[in-house]
Amino acid sequence: RTVYVNGEYLPETEAKVSIFDRGFLMADGVYEVTTVLDGKLIDFDGHAKRLARSLNELEMKHPVTEEELLAIHRKLVEVNEVEEGLVYLQVTRGAADRDFAYPKDAEPTLVLFTQKKQAVNSPAAKTGISVISLPDIRWGRRDIKTVQLLYPSMGKMAAKAQGADDAWLVEDGFVTEGTSNNAYIVKDGVIITRNLGNEILHGITRAAVLRFAAEAQIKIEERPFTIEEAKAADEAFVTSATTFVLPVTKIDGEAVGTGQVGPIAARLREIYLEESRKTAV
Ligand code: PMP
Repeated sequence: RTVYVNGEYLPETEAKVSIFDRGFLMADGVYEVTTVLDGKLIDFDGHAKRLARSLNELEMKHPVTEEELLAIHRKLVEVNEVEEGLVYLQVTRGAADRDFAYPKDAEPTLVLFTQKKQAVNSPAAKTGISVISLPDIRWGRRDIKTVQLLYPSMGKMAAKAQGADDAWLVEDGFVTEGTSNNAYIVKDGVIITRNLGNEILHGITRAAVLRFAAEAQIKIEERPFTIEEAKAADEAFVTSATTFVLPVTKIDGEAVGTGQVGPIAARLREIYLEESRKTAV
């Protein structure tokens, strides 16, 4: 693969970042993942805007403009011949002597690479996934997309250890989100998903799916819900850039609704794939 590091396109074996990089030492970095379908970037604008917001919230320098960012994404997709897959992007505060205080003169590190991956024809989209519930003990600024991903990794491992696929995180009795996706339930034709705040990541796929649902005259309630409410729902699903809309058919071992993929989740997946392709760049 050809990857991008601080202005250079290099073979992945030659790409290097300093051991003093604050991303490595302190998880002082943010990231984005943009999906590629038919060689084009899905929801690029949303990901670029959220990156800018994450950088601003952490008082980090913007390494390149949004235009340059798009050019880098496109070039990597092209040289690596990615038809279906993703572009991963990470910005860190850069390399400096280790100190908790932010360094004054460090230049941000910008790294991008591609991964080829089948996304549309996912077996999980046909069967649905199973989730377990876990306490949400992450930090309080989950709206910033930082590279502090150890607890979500632990959650995913806990789920796998129990024969499940993923975990939904619960705080003060209410579901926040999945380890790497936003969480939804459907009851009597109404989509219920947690309202935006510092407690969850403002999913780019979430924004698009809610827009398409509203256009399809499906009712939406943005509010917290409990695991008990989710278990008693007609349907459940998750959204993320790499999985689009993915049905959830089991929560803590109990079937949701019929235990099969529900009609609203199935329809939203189709609509999302169709509509988001139209604005791909
Ligand atoms: N929440 C969390 C914690 C995530 O890691 C992700 C995926 N990065 C999402 C939600 C979904 O966000 P998006 O739709 O922008 O991929």
